[in-house]
Amino acid sequence: MLTTHPFDDDKLREECGVFGIQNHNQAAAITALGLHALQHRGQEAAGIVSFDGDRFHPEHTMGLVGDHFSSEAVISKLKGPSAIGHVRYATTGDTTIRNVQPLYADFEFGGFALAHNGNLTNAQTLRRQLVRRGCLFQSTTDTEVIVHLMAISRNGSPVDRLVEAVRQVEGAFSLVALTSDAVIGVRDPLGVRPLVLGKLGDTHILASETCALDIVGADYVRDIEPGEMVVLDSSGVHSLRPFQPQGRRFCIFEYIYFARPDSVMEGASVYQARQRIGAELARESGVDADIVVPVPDSGVPAALGYATQSGIPFDLGIIRNHYVGRTFIEPTDQIRHLGVKLKHNANRAMIEGKRVILVDDSIVRGTTSKKIVEMVRSAGAKEVHMRISSPPTSHPCFYGIDTPEQDKLLAHRMTVEEMRDFIQADSLAFISLDGLYRAMGEEKRDPNNIRFCDACFTGDYPIALTDTLDNPPVDAKARIRA
Ligand code: AMP
Repeated sequence: MLTTHPFDDDKLREECGVFGIQNHNQAAAITALGLHALQHRGQEAAGIVSFDGDRFHPEHTMGLVGDHFSSEAVISKLKGPSAIGHVRYATTGDTTIRNVQPLYADFEFGGFALAHNGNLTNAQTLRRQLVRRGCLFQSTTDTEVIVHLMAISRNGSPVDRLVEAVRQVEGAFSLVALTSDAVIGVRDPLGVRPLVLGKLGDTHILASETCALDIVGADYVRDIEPGEMVVLDSSGVHSLRPFQPQGRRFCIFEYIYFARPDSVMEGASVYQARQRIGAELARESGVDADIVVPVPDSGVPAALGYATQSGIPFDLGIIRNHYVGRTFIEPTDQIRHLGVKLKHNANRAMIEGKRVILVDDSIVRGTTSKKIVEMVRSAGAKEVHMRISSPPTSHPCFYGIDTPEQDKLLAHRMTVEEMRDFIQADSLAFISLDGLYRAMGEEKRDPNNIRFCDACFTGDYPIALTDTLDNPPVDAKARIRA
């Protein structure tokens, strides 16, 4: 449903991380380190493009950043004082090297490289129009429409062309671009995906998350504002406002699961946000038990918050094998089942004979929870109570987080009681939507002033779903363009 499109033969859904640095004698090496810190945002492919004052140097690889970009031979090819990079996470279907970003194109004004985190919701519509006009696409990524829109622009400078292009796209985008003069960052008008500005000596850096600044000892300066474009060049940082102000709708799932816990997003520590969500969950859905156990690693901060609030001891009743990737990466249901067994093992000594509260961040297909509950029971738990630090995920994301089609989402098909029965827990509770907003410092979710994108829980899609016009998700309160 999401990607059935004649051009989209690879059926790619992306979750990504971006990085950019301007004016540093170790630009490529720093970009590789930044991408390594952002590896959780994308593990299937990575790329860096540098500029040496004369030529652009692109380098792309399938797989992990460290497997390719830790080599001195590779880094030394990426010459020059400016560079941008990208990590990518495409979870459905095959992925091919031609889709690996940064994309690179030669324009009349010179070379141009582009890296994108997010997902454009009118890319297929624009692509059809552009193909009719004679544009020849090289990849199946949504991002490439921006390059073609720039190519047909009548504006002269790369910045003006990029402004014209991003005004025509809809969706979620945090972009980092490289020209012969500058590194450019852009955030969509609602700021759905993150993008931060950092400083290392006299050098400025753009990155998806602050953990990518920490790794190279750079200071966090500020978040790029929703709808802001920043141009980093030899004269400093210039801020432009290509869009009408629209308020902000930052992705709340970044706080719940996706971002690294040591990152700070829009001024709030991700780790502390997760702890507060766990505490709120304990207030809302307390249960008599002996031990609070996180589903590692993503459930750990929320479980700590839950344990502190409830006074029930926290313990590592499940141990994770760190040498296995995220279970989601496995392409088939069968393998995904196997993935869960590979990844987690019950710590029998801690759970035998106990009433266990398990804390995880989300139930998507329900595969993980079902396996974990079974595992904890067979290790001798007397009772298993599942607590989830997000509301039920009932709607797919169209803005850059990979989620399965709607009918594969457990919460779309089942009530909470049916889900409890499916995962075979003694009880199951999700944090309420208002509880989640309380944990984020609001009184409740105020329908007149919604600060976050929470479409995966509410079906309230804040950006038009133009490409999905023929087949919108059930119950979507979407702004679907006619
Ligand atoms: P599932 O087994 O399908 O219910 O998946 C739930 C698990 O996947 C949770 O433990 C989450 O930590 C993790 N998860 C949730 N959303 C995503 C996502 N978009 N990409 C990768 N993993 C996810």
